[in-house]
Amino acid sequence: MRFKMKIYRIPAETKAILFDIDSTLYTNAFYAHEQVDVQLRYFAKIKGWSYDEAKSKIDAYRQNWAKEHGGAKTSFGNTLTAFGISIEESVRWREKLIDPAEYLEHDAKLVETMEALSQKFRIAAVTNNPMIPAKKTLEVLGVINFFDEIIALDTCFVSKPHKLPYERAAQSLALAFEQCLSVGDRYDIDLAVPLEMGMGGIQVSGVKDVYTLPEILTHAN
Ligand SMILES: [Mg+2]
Repeated sequence: MRFKMKIYRIPAETKAILFDIDSTLYTNAFYAHEQVDVQLRYFAKIKGWSYDEAKSKIDAYRQNWAKEHGGAKTSFGNTLTAFGISIEESVRWREKLIDPAEYLEHDAKLVETMEALSQKFRIAAVTNNPMIPAKKTLEVLGVINFFDEIIALDTCFVSKPHKLPYERAAQSLALAFEQCLSVGDRYDIDLAVPLEMGMGGIQVSGVKDVYTLPEILTHAN
C-alpha cells in the first residue's frame, strides 16, 4: 500500500519550513536502510556479538519501548544509548561510516523546489544525522545554499522526537513555533512533537511529495 502525503496543519503565518533530511529530501530505500545498518554492523563488532544477535537485541529494545510508549517509535541513536553508546559516540560513528556521496546525486527538481520555497519561506533542516553527513547530503543534492539553519544531532546532542532540536530551530530563526512548519517522512519522529508544540506539520512519503510543496503552500496561504 502506498502511503500518501498527509497535511496535518499549515499555520496561516508560516515563515519557515523545517525539513527532515533522510527519506524526505531524497528517496533511496537502500541508502536509508544502509545508514542504520552500517552502524548496526559496527555496534555488533565492538560488542563482540554476531550481526543477528545485535539486531535482535536492538529490535527487542525498540519493540518494548514502543509498547511502553503507546506504540510510538524511538530513534536508532536513542536506542544505542540504552546499550551504553552515548550520542557523542554514535555521532563519531556516523561521521566515520557514512558517506552520502556514495549513494545520492544532484537533484535538479529539488533545487527548483527549494528555489521556489525560499522566495516565500526561510528554510531549515532538523535532522538526527550529525552535522557533517547532513551537510554532505545537502551538498550532494545541490540544495545546501537554501538552508538558513541546520540543526543536527550534534547541535543539541539529543535526537528527534525530543522537542529541543525544534526549539533550537525556531530560536535560531527568531520565530515563534506557530510560524514554523515541520516536513518529514515519519510521524513519530518528525511530526508528533512539532504539532504538539504548535508548529505545522506535513508528512511526506518521499521527495516526490516535497516537489509539490510550492504549489500546496501557495494555495494554503
Ligand atoms: Mg526521515
